Amino acid sequence: MITTKTCPKCKIEKTISEFWKNKSREDGLYHICIDCGKIEKRKPKWDKPVEVPAQLDINVVERVISECNHVIATRDIVSEIIGLPLYTSRFHLLDQNKRKVLARKVTDYMKPKYKIYSENSRGITWLVK
Ligand SMILES: [Zn+2]
Repeated sequence: MITTKTCPKCKIEKTISEFWKNKSREDGLYHICIDCGKIEKRKPKWDKPVEVPAQLDINVVERVISECNHVIATRDIVSEIIGLPLYTSRFHLLDQNKRKVLARKVTDYMKPKYKIYSENSRGITWLVK
């Protein structure tokens, strides 16, 4: 019977009373200590770092196109690739230059395959069906 366990988060060896019980785990204890667990639970679920990918994932682009029924804007594809809705502040807090580079890659990918439906200062909308 173990009496102490080292929390992998704070790296402190603590008595098992300082861990929540968790029957589904081999040692019957939550993986991190109660102190760390409380901090973890306070964090909102979406509080994970979001990055603008440097590479264009063609599979995502094609999936977005296949799910759209007529026209789609470059910015909507970019939003799908990043995984954040356009209207959220989190999207706009992302590096603008990286977003522009990604939008350029989407445009380069779209150009030989699809027709432009409309183009204005907010970007290009593509006719995909
Ligand atoms: Zn801990």
